[in-house]
Amino acid sequence: MSGEFRIVVTDHVSESGLAPLLEDSRFVVTRIDDSATDAFQAALADADGLVVRSATRVTREMLNQGPRLRVVGRAGVGIDNIDLPAATERGIAVLNSPAGNTVAAAELTMALILSVVRRVAEADRSMRAQKWERSRLRGVQLKDRTLGLVGAGRIGSEVAIRCRAFGMKVMAYDPYLTNERADDLGLALTGLDEVLTHGDIISLHVPLTDETLHLIDAAALARMKPGAFVVNVSRGGVIDEDALARALTDGHLAGAALDVFESEPLSPQSPLLSLPNVVLTPHLGASTVEAQELVAREIAESVRDALALGDLSGSVNPA
Ligand code: NAD
Repeated sequence: MSGEFRIVVTDHVSESGLAPLLEDSRFVVTRIDDSATDAFQAALADADGLVVRSATRVTREMLNQGPRLRVVGRAGVGIDNIDLPAATERGIAVLNSPAGNTVAAAELTMALILSVVRRVAEADRSMRAQKWERSRLRGVQLKDRTLGLVGAGRIGSEVAIRCRAFGMKVMAYDPYLTNERADDLGLALTGLDEVLTHGDIISLHVPLTDETLHLIDAAALARMKPGAFVVNVSRGGVIDEDALARALTDGHLAGAALDVFESEPLSPQSPLLSLPNVVLTPHLGASTVEAQELVAREIAESVRDALALGDLSGSVNPA
């Protein structure tokens, strides 16, 4: 039978990655990149599946607008934009594509680490202001310094590999990682306090949960070495941004680099915007051609298998 399942895709999910759905005659795919439009609502009313990235908030109300929905697919890993309890109550499977953007996020982490320790963004701003400040813009080297990883899953462990290639030591805090997995990754697991007090660069790679919300608060920042750097490519909310701004302003920390924020887009009132020793990027962790294609393909296959074969192995809903 052709056109058995209707899928609405939004948020500019990579078209080429959607091939597993587009080339399968059992699926009718409607792409509406702006989920705030009437056209999106109309398409949702009759959809069996919805595919989003991070821009669309899949609320209870939105799910209610799709009475036939059986699957919501997130092209990417974080599912904090999807009301999971509401989906679970309705029996809608929520699927994500966790692996496709791992390398992209790890590479952005390296870009931010290098940029903040060598003051690349600050130097660029200085040159555009017609200055040549070679002595003011002195940085520090990575070799022989310690990376303090908070969260050593897919992305954290890839960052560890890259930092070791720069001659860094790596310490990691991840209470859910088994010792066998840590051994496989060659990671020395330790407590959060050890990571905070020994790390020269603290890099965060945890999901945003009740436990990790403001995990890096004023007290945690105060435990960090004077002159340490903090990098966050995980989720806004893991760091208390006001406390971070204070730790940067009073000189306790040397710098920070952030790709994710408590509220996105970042408010023009954020104190972070006026601090010179902060590198800011607008949630670009997964923004590479390769990652977008990979996560789209991964989610297209999962949505196809969930609807056509009843395979819910990629579902993140609680049982
Ligand atoms: P993952 O699930 O593979 O790894 C997360 C790790 O965090 C796991 O090993 C888990 O045990 C650990 N963890 C959970 N709670 C913890 C806690 N309280 N303390 C310490 N460790 C804890 O996930 P991942 O694919 O590596 O992604 C990591 C983060 O990066 C997620 O928040 C994800 O949403 C985010 N991410 C951001 C971007 C971006 O664009 N900036 C792109 C991809 C992923």
